[in-house]
Amino acid sequence: MSTKNKSIKLQLLWKYGNRCAICGKKIRNFEELSVDHIIPRAKGGRNVISNCQLAHKSCNELKNDNLPDEYERILRSNKRRILKMRIRRAILFW
Ligand SMILES: [Zn+2]
Repeated sequence: MSTKNKSIKLQLLWKYGNRCAICGKKIRNFEELSVDHIIPRAKGGRNVISNCQLAHKSCNELKNDNLPDEYERILRSNKRRILKMRIRRAILFW
């Protein structure tokens, strides 16, 4: 694993907590953790933090098999959940 990928993982852990952006469940160990590219690398997505999210390895693989609109639907509901989580966390900091 390159140093750049490792630092992206750490930044994503900070950003999302240890939750999978695809299924919304906790990622319990580093072995399960993978970086998912929101716009796939194959479609010109860049390897930068804004195009990356944390996902279980298994979810990441599942996403690759999914129809795009099905995946979009799952992602939209999870985005709302992540946003709520971040708002709660921000309130805690005050
Ligand atoms: Zn997952």
